[in-house]
Amino acid sequence: MKVLVINSGSSSIKYQLLDPESGAVAASGIVQRIGEPVADGAPTVEHKSDGKTFEHDGEIADHAAGLRVVFDLFRASGHDLAHEQLAAVGHRVVHGGEVFYEPTLIDDRVVRAISDLSALAPLHNPANVVGIESARALLPEVPQVAVFDTAFFHRLPAAAKTYAIDAKIAAAHGVRKYGFHGTSHDYVSGQVAKFLGRDRSELNQIVLHLGNGASASAIRGGQAVDTTMGLTPLEGLVMGTRSGDLDPGIIFHLIRTAEMNVDDVDDLLNRQSGLKGLSGVNDFRELDTLRETGDAAAQLAFDVYIHRLRRYIGAYLIELGHVDAITFTAGVGENDAAVRAAALAGLENFGIQVDAARNTGKDRSARYISPAGAPVAALVVPTNEELAIARAAADLVA
Ligand code: AMP
Repeated sequence: MKVLVINSGSSSIKYQLLDPESGAVAASGIVQRIGEPVADGAPTVEHKSDGKTFEHDGEIADHAAGLRVVFDLFRASGHDLAHEQLAAVGHRVVHGGEVFYEPTLIDDRVVRAISDLSALAPLHNPANVVGIESARALLPEVPQVAVFDTAFFHRLPAAAKTYAIDAKIAAAHGVRKYGFHGTSHDYVSGQVAKFLGRDRSELNQIVLHLGNGASASAIRGGQAVDTTMGLTPLEGLVMGTRSGDLDPGIIFHLIRTAEMNVDDVDDLLNRQSGLKGLSGVNDFRELDTLRETGDAAAQLAFDVYIHRLRRYIGAYLIELGHVDAITFTAGVGENDAAVRAAALAGLENFGIQVDAARNTGKDRSARYISPAGAPVAALVVPTNEELAIARAAADLVA
């Protein structure tokens, strides 16, 4: 039994065909630059299957065309999706609003409701809908399941999810903290409990999902009690290209004085800020290289990133009262020992210690970076959103 997991972005589709029980990946790939001209001959679709890579380098007009190419590549690589034992197609959907907080079997009504939530996620939900519609057309017999990035944070306490603005305006326009990366925070906190051999219900956890997008969460007994992202994924930590927290007054100031309109500021804060805005690069590997050459802007970007991260670690330590585990995950969290060391430096008085050898070790599986016997377990645990979505989809259709 296998599940096809589809994650449609505005101009890309990532996918995996995997066994939801073992996690074994039969094939995976990415469609990129959808709707963009391709003059450079670089592949628009890269499909990996059984250790081989298959490429397509023609222009991809839209998501439906992208998925058709993907299905052709599946066939060419020996996995004809029409004949695979597909239990379900699992779709990552970014915003579930107040409507969706559990994996949901997709029908026309659900598609309309996801589309109706587009005002809350104008970049993401329309792309998710197109991905869903394309997959439904190509695989009409297979159940399609939506798994929402906001679901894990649906029951945040009122004090954590409420913005201090006019309550009537907030209610009328769905303004609350929704939180994102929920599939990852949920999955990783479950893996932490397994790794520690404890029940998740008895653990207080901080999970730091540090990828190109980044978010932190405070989790008490398996229930999220706070998270850094908000109404949109812009709030909170410094990210690859997003600013994270800032004084909202900056927005009005720029509109009034820098001849920028709302879309300009949206673009500035979502795509030209964060590490990229401060240093010119959004990839942490490039940032580390620049820092090694003594680049002052790169060093400042790193310092701002760490300062923000530590601020939230502190906030969540206080919110939770006591913490059993602090866990790093996603591209930066799993791979960048310097970030982990800086984030937790000097917190021995809080029971938080990092063992330098463990932190810089080459092991890639779930592991301690705190020394044996430390009061707080500091961990690195790889995330796997595709597997979590595949399992949620398989469970629902079973
Ligand atoms: P994700 O969004 O979880 O896929 O994370 C992607 C980001 O992880 C990249 O943009 C890099 O900044 C970062 N990353 C990936 N590999 C490494 C590495 N070996 N060292 C530092 N950062 C890394």
